[in-house]
Amino acid sequence: MNSVLEETKFLIKKYHISANKNLGQNFLVDDEAVNHILESAHITKNDLVIEIGPGLGTLTARLLEKAHKVIAIELDDKMITILQDRFHFYDNFELIHQDVLKVDLKQKIDENISAVSSVKIVANLPYYITTPIIMKLLEERLPIDSITVMVQKEVADRLTAVPGKKNTGAITYCVSYYCEASEVILVPNTSFIPSPEVNSEVIHLEVRKAPPVLVSNETFFFKVIQASFMQRRKTLLNGLSNNGIASKELLKKMLEDLQLDENIRGESLDLNQFAKISNYLSK
Ligand code: SAM
Repeated sequence: MNSVLEETKFLIKKYHISANKNLGQNFLVDDEAVNHILESAHITKNDLVIEIGPGLGTLTARLLEKAHKVIAIELDDKMITILQDRFHFYDNFELIHQDVLKVDLKQKIDENISAVSSVKIVANLPYYITTPIIMKLLEERLPIDSITVMVQKEVADRLTAVPGKKNTGAITYCVSYYCEASEVILVPNTSFIPSPEVNSEVIHLEVRKAPPVLVSNETFFFKVIQASFMQRRKTLLNGLSNNGIASKELLKKMLEDLQLDENIRGESLDLNQFAKISNYLSK
């Protein structure tokens, strides 16, 4: 097979493509990065793969050879034409021309689940909507087994951070509640056409069968986490009281009962401590 660089240059020329920056179009042209994505996703003939933002079809072509079925979701009309031309003769290919955030993924998975043993998400994500996509995949409690995606390096750091340690944000806690996260490979900005300003990283999220901590009210648990990260420089006490989670009086008593320092910040808490806080306050 041609290298992905040659393949991409050929398609760009043939279809007169100029990348649409507003849609986060940075086409991956690095064989090694492509191979790392495919290897870390562990695709088999028993898998349904959902690819978000297939673009010119670089990953799609390889996924179609490995998976039972590939559902590719793409927003851009021009990409849709190319993808139809390239893959219409594959009977394991389904193309959805829609904004991924509006697709009913649960329904799509339900339609296909009886024919497969697992569902995997694979993508070089459009960076401008990385967080909403990851949140959608996790919060909708979809029956997916793993998420293997290329994201901007800074976002990768946040998604794979250890709660309570460096680089955390509210999404770190969400990811580590639902998944085991690992970093796969750093990808320099020169691995894309056009080159984005930032470097990237492939990450792999293995969806957990059960959460690692006991939470009595999940919605409230995530509300508490969000509230404590809204004003990063504030203490947990101020963050939670300013965002209407509980009164200062109750929060002070809680910190005392849970043996936490009154000046502690949300970012230094681990998942278990947040679970205890949310269980305490939702009693
Ligand atoms: N997979 C290709 C690759 O690796 O070269 C393209 C990846 S490019 C970073 C992101 C892709 O996501 C583009 O094809 C873009 O058109 C598509 N995209 C952007 N916003 C989207 C959305 N809301 N829903 C679905 N696809 C979207």
